[in-house]
Amino acid sequence: MPAPSSRFASDLYNLSYLTEQPIPDNEGLSPVPEHVVIIGSGPAGWAAAIYAARANLHPLVFEGASIEANRIAGTLPLGQLNLTTEVENYPGFPKGVLKEYMASALPPDRLEADFPVGLEEHAHAVTGPELMNLMRQQAVNFGTRIISDDVVEVNLKQQPYQLTSLEGQKFETHTIIIATGARANYLGLASEDKYKNRGVSACAVCDGALPIFRNKPLVVVGGGDSAVEEASYLTKYASKVHMLMRRDKFRASKIMAQRALDNPKIQLHYFREVDEVLGDEKKVTAIRMKNNKEGGTEDIPASGLFLAIGHTPNTDFLKGQVELNDKGYIKYTTLMRTYTSVEGVFAAGDVADDYYRQAITSAGTGCMAALDAERFLAAKGI
Ligand code: NDP
Repeated sequence: MPAPSSRFASDLYNLSYLTEQPIPDNEGLSPVPEHVVIIGSGPAGWAAAIYAARANLHPLVFEGASIEANRIAGTLPLGQLNLTTEVENYPGFPKGVLKEYMASALPPDRLEADFPVGLEEHAHAVTGPELMNLMRQQAVNFGTRIISDDVVEVNLKQQPYQLTSLEGQKFETHTIIIATGARANYLGLASEDKYKNRGVSACAVCDGALPIFRNKPLVVVGGGDSAVEEASYLTKYASKVHMLMRRDKFRASKIMAQRALDNPKIQLHYFREVDEVLGDEKKVTAIRMKNNKEGGTEDIPASGLFLAIGHTPNTDFLKGQVELNDKGYIKYTTLMRTYTSVEGVFAAGDVADDYYRQAITSAGTGCMAALDAERFLAAKGI
């Protein structure tokens, strides 16, 4: 059995066990069309892979390329969760030692009877990167094959469908699960663009610990859960974090909003937007904020600007071949199914969800998409 060529092997992980599951060595097209190709490597992609692999469909996952352009765009492998710290709301990973909790919650006889054997010292809680790597490992354990590259083009006009990777490889497949997620938005200011990677970022967890931000005042834009999460995280390093909100209300959940209100290092600025990013040759030195209620601007010294103003779905590569909604998210065509406008092409996770956008809902629709693909293939006798 040939080992996968080095260009397919991820440079991030030791995937020696992938040799058990060869990736097509395709000069041109793969000799046999794949049963299911999954594009994307967030919770939706891995959940789809786990289910498809357990259905013996030998899924092939394009997890994305670890390249600088994807880092800047926020579309690196393992998705947005890989850019976060602790994940507090994914069921099954509570903080704390299970036995201690059960001892406090159950009468002694039930504790004895109910306690899972072998978990005496087991403490849970999970970070985003841990959770994503666990999901990836789980998918690989069942025979998922992985290509660390982007899909840049699809031809969905004929079956089997054709995919082209960034490296120019072509693949054929009977079904596709699109799970490419969504990426962070920027404001679109020229000065913001100028200072990207020199103080402007859309990922506090990726960049917040950099020396240029340490013990300096920083600015976070947005009033959603992400903004609070980013601002709270940055307070570990910054001397102070200014949160700019364009209204006088949070969009964040109450518990998260309270977290920002209670943090003495976070200063809230209502009705404020970024007018310009100011800096010298090398770095950001201040943010000019405008008062969108009363007019006027004010410069606040800052070494960094962190955007947390929502997301854009990663659907550019579909180039009009799958029906999208007015915000660019893939449209589901049937209630409680992951069907798209193209037969045999399914969508899962944030790429088709501008409403829930949670790891758990993404994983749920990933599972649904795999079951939909399996049933589609069975109905076609493939
Ligand atoms: P949201 O859409 O919830 O919030 C975006 C924020 O950015 C809003 O405050 C919005 O303002 C503001 N905004 C948008 N565009 C601009 C602009 N051009 N200029 C200034 N401000 C702007 O996105 P999030 O990324 O925060 O959250 C997405 C989803 O992920 C949510 O469902 C959230 O609950 C979830 N999430 C959960 C977390 C958790 O549970 N720990 C952590 C992070 C995210 P306005 O309100 O005025 O529209």
